[in-house]
Amino acid sequence: MKKEQTDNLSPETDLLTFLGTAGARVMVAHQILASGGLWLDLGGTQVLLDPGPGCLVQATKRKLDPGKLQAIVLSHRHLDHSGDINVMVEAMTDGGFKKRGILFCPGDAINSDDPVILKYLRGYPERIEILKEGQRYTVGDFFLSTPLRHQHGVETYGIVFETSRHTIACIVDSKYFDALCTAYKAELLIINVVRLESGGPYEHLSVPDAEHIIKEIKPKAAILTHFGMTMWRAKPWEVASVLSQRTGTQVIAARDGMKFDLAELSKSD
Ligand SMILES: [Zn+2]
Repeated sequence: MKKEQTDNLSPETDLLTFLGTAGARVMVAHQILASGGLWLDLGGTQVLLDPGPGCLVQATKRKLDPGKLQAIVLSHRHLDHSGDINVMVEAMTDGGFKKRGILFCPGDAINSDDPVILKYLRGYPERIEILKEGQRYTVGDFFLSTPLRHQHGVETYGIVFETSRHTIACIVDSKYFDALCTAYKAELLIINVVRLESGGPYEHLSVPDAEHIIKEIKPKAAILTHFGMTMWRAKPWEVASVLSQRTGTQVIAARDGMKFDLAELSKSD
């Protein structure tokens, strides 16, 4: 007899889908690259990180059903991360008819004078968790932690996802500081690398920063994403290839729509 199909299509798999790889103003405003954030299928539990502009379109186009999301995580309130947060909360909860899912966000996404989470839909998720530095949260059968508050103007937290199979660290937007090299020990490191060159007043990581962080953390693999214009002009896949040679770690440039199965990591053991 054929095994019955269930919603939980991949109980032993951790699969990432990049719904966008654009970072910062110009790339997002012109949609040179998409800006929909990262969709994680962690053993069948669906989680969304940083639903930027176009997230709903990118997700549905790729047959990812927002109605199956168990959690939406917002690292910080900047528009390239939060543009679609409200519509994704609506989609996760069937417009509020199904009270379900958890929304994780920094306090200033809710409690500032200019909140990005609309008040009328705050009662739609099962609950809202306010992210704080050094916390660990349980979602279904995995953990989500926020080891560090980043240096990025608004309240910003990097995110670590731990399943029974893998650990994935997402170093989101930040100015470089040394703690980034110790707080994100993981098998897979995802780094928002907006800029090609270091220096300047920018609160974003550059390629030299990423090289240093990867050398310090030594993950099994690193994925670069969230590209600004200087990175895009330099061809991220070529930058990644150079970084692979220089760090001795497999470094991959994310592409819009790219899927990454964490089982790939075990193969390199
Ligand atoms: Zn930002």
